[in-house]
Amino acid sequence: MKSKACSQQIPVAETSRYDPDCSFCHVSVENDFQVVWEDDELIAFKDRDPACGHHFQIIPRLHISSVRQLRKSDVDMIKTMVNVGHQLLEQLDVETSMRKMGFHIPPFNSVGHLHLHVQALPYKNLARRLKYPTAPGFRSFHKGFSWFSDARQTILILQEGRSVGIFPC
Ligand SMILES: [Zn+2]
Ligand SMILES: [Zn+2]
Repeated sequence: MKSKACSQQIPVAETSRYDPDCSFCHVSVENDFQVVWEDDELIAFKDRDPACGHHFQIIPRLHISSVRQLRKSDVDMIKTMVNVGHQLLEQLDVETSMRKMGFHIPPFNSVGHLHLHVQALPYKNLARRLKYPTAPGFRSFHKGFSWFSDARQTILILQEGRSVGIFPC
């Protein structure tokens, strides 16, 4: 699969919308999450172990296991997630150039429920920074080799009908 990871057909296996064993399917104030924003589709909460001064997670309420499962029809949802991320950072006076958002790519994701990392740079230390490596694309690729897909890269890849993987895509 290797370099074809980005162009291969996505298996239509992710039909489950709720996973009882998934902690992110149970995000709520009652369950001890620091929810900062929510609507019918999405929830935003503070990362329990922030990598930088401000670090949020934005997730869809429906269980989508990861960025790999996303397709072109999900672009609008991703754009909405990014907009919410900008609003959260805007309220905290974080300059645009210091905002970073993106998704971990399995197997480098900690929770198997799609979550957009919304961060205000800089990172606390180098080890933290290395968990969120953004690699620029080259030639027709929007993204280089990396286990973290920047939100902008993710949208460009999906808009072309391709899927996001670790290898350049
Ligand atoms: Zn879930
Ligand atoms: Zn993650």
